[in-house]
Amino acid sequence: MEIKKMFIDGCWVESISGKTRNTINPSNGEVLAVVTEGDVDDARLAIAAAKKSFYVTREWRDTDAQTRGDMLLKIADEMDKVRDELARIDTLNHGKPLREAEADVDDAIHCFRYYSSLIKAPHGGVYEVNEGFGKMHSYTIHEPVGVCAQITPWNYPLLMGVWKLAPAIAAGNSIVFKPSSNCVLSCIRLFEIFEKVGMPKGSVNLVLGAGSTIGNELAENKDVDMITFTGSTEVGQSIMRAAAGNVKKIGLELGGKSPNVIFADADLEGAVEWAMLGIFLNQGEICSAGSRIIIEESIKDKFVRRLAERANAITIGNPLENPDMGPLVTESHMNKVLDYIQKGIDEGATLVCGGYRYTEGECAKGYYVRPTVFDNCTDDMTIVKEEIFGPVVTVQTFKTEQEAIDMANNTEYGLAGAVFTSDGARALRVIKEIRAGITWINCYNPCFNEAPWGGYKKSGIGRELGIHGLEEYQEIKQININLNPGVVGWYEH
Ligand code: NAD
Repeated sequence: MEIKKMFIDGCWVESISGKTRNTINPSNGEVLAVVTEGDVDDARLAIAAAKKSFYVTREWRDTDAQTRGDMLLKIADEMDKVRDELARIDTLNHGKPLREAEADVDDAIHCFRYYSSLIKAPHGGVYEVNEGFGKMHSYTIHEPVGVCAQITPWNYPLLMGVWKLAPAIAAGNSIVFKPSSNCVLSCIRLFEIFEKVGMPKGSVNLVLGAGSTIGNELAENKDVDMITFTGSTEVGQSIMRAAAGNVKKIGLELGGKSPNVIFADADLEGAVEWAMLGIFLNQGEICSAGSRIIIEESIKDKFVRRLAERANAITIGNPLENPDMGPLVTESHMNKVLDYIQKGIDEGATLVCGGYRYTEGECAKGYYVRPTVFDNCTDDMTIVKEEIFGPVVTVQTFKTEQEAIDMANNTEYGLAGAVFTSDGARALRVIKEIRAGITWINCYNPCFNEAPWGGYKKSGIGRELGIHGLEEYQEIKQININLNPGVVGWYEH
């Protein structure tokens, strides 16, 4: 098999060590591709290329905003041409159903188009200032940060990358990008597009390899001006520590254990369908997953019965054939999810449906887990406290609104949450009390390029997408102009 390479300083290269890693198709355990496995030295080459591109050749940095915007449009157009190929790659590499991968690619294309427009919009501000120093004007401009390192997880292999790459490129930074080694193939294809549209040498670099080596180097290296990371809270904490050396700018999109609060006056059928989308979309491998259902006691039994019926009807199979759910991403991740399920049983939760590896027919060699619902859960159970990142949902009950709010907030995380009720005032009251960055009323999981995405508490720092997502990759410079040059009179006395 041809070895898939890294893209450093405008060239496709194998790692210095010559090591490789097999990428596995999770639907059947077969080798999908052989990928070069970079190390610290490869990361350093990429950082040096990005540094030279930003501080010496300055080709991308000095390009005007209109030309940068046009380049993003070209990238989007090229992605559109290979949309089906990109979706197929993510389905084969990650395991998500093809229609979900197609939606991801469409979103990613739109993200480039969105930032292509946004970078040309007016930005900065003009301020009325105190004139104690004579007549002054104060205004601000936005500038690129410099060398940006970006590290992404495997759950949305292409899309999580694009959320970072599109605004960072638009802003004029030079980039070293590292995807999760589980799912690198769609990002390699994306960098082929960067090369095709003519991104200047060294402005976009792709490194491939383990987080503990390459990832850590990106976080530590003093030539990196900024690091943005999407992944687990534990790794996010280690990145924060490593980034302290040169006080890098930092953006963290971390884990979640998000509450889905359902009141008795909610449309029950609608709440069940949204709860399904909240936890079983993308096999539950979603940071914002509604993994804790918190429901008013009086409707709990009816809701759980219906949820189990619907979960049991979920079809599982080869993700290219568009079942409701595909396999989990790797064998080890599947085993981690199965361990959590066992813990749930051991700690006394009631297993209502699912709870096992699915091996029927052609699924025998894949990493499939049936959608799993646990009833009678309590705040102290491991499955309620820890992020499982799979198709497993817990159900807890409340009697009063305050109890629901307290339970929703009883978590170290603060990424997302939802409320279902037909009482508009209550919906707003409760959602305002939930300590989370992304919330929904009477729906779960829709997400938009135009609106900011990010978490409270241990779910992260900063925001991606929307205007905030662009500003993360920009420095703000204040410029103060003296309109009356001459003596200020400060030292008169
Ligand atoms: P992970 O933290 O294991 O890995 C994420 C990335 O970090 C990978 O590229 C990995 O190689 C790299 N990495 C690992 N150790 C590193 C280290 N010591 N230094 C630097 N980099 C290192 O996460 P994962 O298993 O790939 O993804 C799942 C996690 O991502 C979940 O916790 C999920 O909630 C989170 N996530 C969050 C968001 C969000 O927007 N908040 C979105 C998607 C996923």
